[in-house]
Amino acid sequence: MEQQNLNRSPSVLTINLEAICENWLQLKSRLQNAECAAVVKANAYGLGAQKVAPALYQAGCKHFFVAHVNEGIELRPYLSDDATVYILHGCTAGTEVDCVVHNLVPILNSLGQLMAWQTLGKRLGRALPAALQIDTGMARLGLDEGELEKLITNPQMLQGIDVRFLMSHLVSAENQTASINQLQRDRFLNAFQHLPISKTSLANSSGIFLGPDFQFDLVRPGAALYGVTPVEGEDNPMRQVIRLQGRVLQTRTVYPGTSVGYSHTWTAAKRSRIATVSVGYADGYLRSLSNRGHASFEGRRIPLVGNISMDTITLDVTDIPEDEIHEGSMIDLLDPELGVDEVAKQAGTIGYEVLTNLGSRYTRQYV
Ligand SMILES: *Cc1c(COP(=O)(O)O)cnc(C)c1O
Repeated sequence: MEQQNLNRSPSVLTINLEAICENWLQLKSRLQNAECAAVVKANAYGLGAQKVAPALYQAGCKHFFVAHVNEGIELRPYLSDDATVYILHGCTAGTEVDCVVHNLVPILNSLGQLMAWQTLGKRLGRALPAALQIDTGMARLGLDEGELEKLITNPQMLQGIDVRFLMSHLVSAENQTASINQLQRDRFLNAFQHLPISKTSLANSSGIFLGPDFQFDLVRPGAALYGVTPVEGEDNPMRQVIRLQGRVLQTRTVYPGTSVGYSHTWTAAKRSRIATVSVGYADGYLRSLSNRGHASFEGRRIPLVGNISMDTITLDVTDIPEDEIHEGSMIDLLDPELGVDEVAKQAGTIGYEVLTNLGSRYTRQYV
């Protein structure tokens, strides 16, 4: 990014690809025999799949997961042929040919998807690659109990499909004491023992931290790569990977009794200095942070006061000298100290949502 351009930018999102790769390598080092994939759906959780995926490929990652066929089509040209791009939602009806043409591997989530894939393979005269997902407790995607039963009694339904692995997804992996974890693992293993499939994949980011019993052959971390904490209630071992800075548009002094912003939800109790910063809910800065969130300036916390507007927030910068914060100053809204999990907590949501909301108006800078 040219300096000229950055100087004009109302807000800058800096994405540290090296930190993402370091997080991937850290997760990989926690594995016994499993391979480590990377989940880059939803534009790599808002951080830019076309930058993140090639960087991870350079770090050694060969398996990439997106949600939609369209996401796969967009990403495929940015990766070499020896990298595999999996489609978590599978080939939704009518997109089977797209998957073949664009060299995408669908996760088959129903017998219908499975049969359509088999039929296409027959027509093309080759075994098309896929993975098979079964539901073990999420009740969201994958073969349900009845479909699984049917497949186990009719394994020829898999004939002519190159099934790379059996897959399922954990409900509460971030909670290490949740009993559903073990239950899902038992159901998964039971199905595996009854199917002619040789490899397995169960764990997301948090699942890796449940230990070797949950890692199987391929793990699928997403959030932890991007700095979200994988284990509830424990220190976050992952590096923060983003810095979000907003520019001060104006500062003003307000006097006791003066209220700030839409609906006047905050009123100054003493003489205060307010800084208006050019980031708002239209940028994905969650409105639920109104009167609750914080910004930071050179390590000092600054409370957010008043309601968040579409394009601006207001900060109480009374405690910071005027020669330090003034028109044009850049204030941190997310940084290594003020991480996604803390901001998520203040907003009443999870780090995943803070990330995937990061808006398109930010000037993006990759380092
Ligand atoms: C999103 C997703 C993942 C990644 O989960 P994280 O919690 O972000 O690590 C893995 N597997 C499936 C099926 C997913 O949908």
